[in-house]
Amino acid sequence: MGIDLPEKIKILIVGAGSTGLMLAIMLAEKGIPFTIIDQKSATPTHSRSIGIHPPSISIFNRLGLLDTLMEKANKVTHGEAYIGSKPMGQIDFTKVDHAHPYILTVPQYHTEAVLEKKLADDYNIKVLRGIYLTTLTHFEKYCWAVLQNKSGKIQHGLKATYIIGCDGIGSTTRTLTGIGFEGSTYPDYYMMGDFEDNIGRRDFATVHLCKEGLVESFPHGINTRRWVVKTDHLIKKPAAQQIAEVAKERTGNYPDPETNTMTSGFRIKRFIADSFFHKRAILAGDAAHVNSPIGGQGMNLGWMDADYLAEVLPDAINKNSEEPIEEYSKKRRVKANIAASRAGFNTRIGRSFNSALLRKGLVSVMVNTPVSDYFIRSFTMLDLPSRNPELP
Ligand SMILES: Cc1cc2nc3c(=O)[nH]c(=O)nc-3n(C[C@H](O)[C@H](O)[C@H](O)COP(=O)(O)OP(=O)(O)OC[C@H]3O[C@@H](n4cnc5c(N)ncnc54)[C@H](O)[C@@H]3O)c2cc1C
Repeated sequence: MGIDLPEKIKILIVGAGSTGLMLAIMLAEKGIPFTIIDQKSATPTHSRSIGIHPPSISIFNRLGLLDTLMEKANKVTHGEAYIGSKPMGQIDFTKVDHAHPYILTVPQYHTEAVLEKKLADDYNIKVLRGIYLTTLTHFEKYCWAVLQNKSGKIQHGLKATYIIGCDGIGSTTRTLTGIGFEGSTYPDYYMMGDFEDNIGRRDFATVHLCKEGLVESFPHGINTRRWVVKTDHLIKKPAAQQIAEVAKERTGNYPDPETNTMTSGFRIKRFIADSFFHKRAILAGDAAHVNSPIGGQGMNLGWMDADYLAEVLPDAINKNSEEPIEEYSKKRRVKANIAASRAGFNTRIGRSFNSALLRKGLVSVMVNTPVSDYFIRSFTMLDLPSRNPELP
């Protein structure tokens, strides 16, 4: 059996991760025809990104998805800062002037499942899974894309007026279009794991600045808490016990390894595409920008890209003008750079501080002075509003 697609389409979305799925729903809402493919045959199962910030919560609300999302989500209203195991103060997200003054925490696989179901149920659109973009040739008025299945035995060529690369950090769309991806990998290593929550206080996330390096804990889902700890080298597949022991050593809390459901080790990267639009190829999400996940907000940034793009694409198509997409590229690039600088700052303060005085001073400034308002706005992403900040 071949790939069941016409030879000419308006829009090809490559990648059905959080960005591609959100964009697909928004285009479907506006009646813009598209096709969405993903190389993965099955939906992912890794909890990955857990934080959904107020501007994104507004988007889920507008799409009528907030109640469904809430079924498996947790509301975080406070961040509590510690020096080691000693509490130093809190920041209160409920102070922000927004209809949703909290961060929702839910595993990324659940969020993506909710989006994919909406696409199928409301618009009868299915993600074509197990299909790769392999070749892309650019012409003045369209792109020629070759799609194939995993074995490469089944191939299909098509013309698309625009191709939108939502295909993540290694974006084939970006590479085949020849768009540069500048950045670097930080000298920072982390391991993290999901454990049964043994702290309670489900509305509190904790940040521990420790002599040996950062520890963070985030309640998410129904009864899970994610522990993230800084290490001095890369441990690709950490044991649950290893994470639990480091958490205990630095914070006094020992998450039970028997209850662990996920562990991983990672390095911190910061990259940005030279342009988000070139030769009829548009980039969004991690294909366009990658941030440190330490206080980073990559998934949410991808949704803001989608929100912007869905607003301007109908105009670009109907008026046959590339100007709105050029604007998209310029404006979203600026926002991505701001978010990356902030995530870089968060990564730096997570490094080990030998000076207890410096750690104490830093935490005091973050939680006990007017500067804390800045941190609240930045942790909730309200300083980087989406295109429609007035959304409820
Ligand atoms: C440990 C960790 C924690 C994180 N925590 C947070 C957080 O709390 N908050 C936050 O906002 N962000 C967080 N992030 C970042 C977030 O996970 C990413 O920014 C987000 O997943 C990006 O989504 P995306 O759809 O752009 O890319 P991806 O999720 O990478 O999806 C890309 C999709 O494209 C498909 N694809 C790739 N190449 C092709 C091809 N050639 N043909 C067809 N399909 C293709 C892939 O199969 C994939 O499904 C975290 C990341 C990590 C690793």
